[in-house]
Amino acid sequence: MRKPVYLDYAATTPVAPEVATRMAQCLTLEGNFANPASRSHVYGWQAEELVEEARAQVAQLINADPREIVWTSGATEANNLALKGIAESYRAAHPQGGHIVVSAIEHKAVLDPVAWLEHQGFSVTRLVPTPEGIVTGDALTAALRADTFLVSIMQVNNELGCINDIQSLAAICNARDILFHCDAAQSAGKIAIDVRALNVDLLSLSAHKFYGPKGVGALYVKRAANVKLSAQIHGGGHERGMRSGTLATHQLVGMGEAAKLAQAHLVADAERINALRDHLWQAIASLPGVTRNGSSSACVSGILNVAFGNADGEMLLLSLRELAISSGSACNSASMSPSYVLKAIGLSDAAAQASLRFSIGRYTTAEEIEFAIEHLRSVISKLQKA
Ligand SMILES: *Cc1c(COP(=O)(O)O)cnc(C)c1O
Repeated sequence: MRKPVYLDYAATTPVAPEVATRMAQCLTLEGNFANPASRSHVYGWQAEELVEEARAQVAQLINADPREIVWTSGATEANNLALKGIAESYRAAHPQGGHIVVSAIEHKAVLDPVAWLEHQGFSVTRLVPTPEGIVTGDALTAALRADTFLVSIMQVNNELGCINDIQSLAAICNARDILFHCDAAQSAGKIAIDVRALNVDLLSLSAHKFYGPKGVGALYVKRAANVKLSAQIHGGGHERGMRSGTLATHQLVGMGEAAKLAQAHLVADAERINALRDHLWQAIASLPGVTRNGSSSACVSGILNVAFGNADGEMLLLSLRELAISSGSACNSASMSPSYVLKAIGLSDAAAQASLRFSIGRYTTAEEIEFAIEHLRSVISKLQKA
């Protein structure tokens, strides 16, 4: 059987061949297999050198200082470290707890740690975005309280692709001495990120969303006296005590190389992917009952979320066998409950269930998009006859 066309780059990307080559050089006896924390021999020194090169590459992608990068196992762990780490150190000075603000359409890797903190006695406000999927400065300002100490808002939503104005949201928090965390898993490597210009305190990254390996990510932690993180994983005191565990040289080298490539390809990739996405949208926009979910103006290049009128979502996904796509969020695909993101921007259960996310990436070809368009047209017309 021929494999379906892969249009699920927002769920994960394949590892770039250049990245895979460098990773493979960090595994066997002939390669850089050593423990980067081994101080007593050349094997360890060489591994450490590679890890620090990768740290500098990741730092460069977001204009951070390499000392501000803490390695993690992915964006899920980076979000957990940021949210729980800040909350725990805040509580040490404020035993009565405090207030946290997030958006209602954050990834579960933010919503679930925040729900856990709520269970521990913190209070939480979940901001409802506009129908376009955007968190406004007014909504944020209205939610802030005297005891608000942390705000977490994603830069690009993983289902809709819509882009928040992080710089102005962070400015609102900076003016009130409230820490700002940003989940940048869907934006890093796709839009230019400058943590200094954005003025965020913490920012989460995931390598597998930009052609690096799965199982590795990083948390940017601003070097500032007010940004104090309590470690969530205790062990050998790695990463200046913030995240213990033997550093996985091959994973980190992979993330560093992927960051370097993403930066080099950033503008060209975005232009090409944007053109493919716009072409796909224009070709299906005129099909009966079709509407686009989320902002079409403030939208990252690779993502297109579409509601197929009153189609049966399950039937639709089953009929589109030639395409590897997601209904709602990939993380929700196991259950058939409608996407909480689509519901938060005002879609009915039926419209949310009849929505599909197409996500396009570096290796998507024009032929694949043409094929997808033909397939969509024929499936939709068959479903309408049935
Ligand atoms: C993929 C993703 C995550 C989770 O990242 P992992 O590295 O897979 O843990 C978190 N937030 C967003 C917005 C994502 O897209």
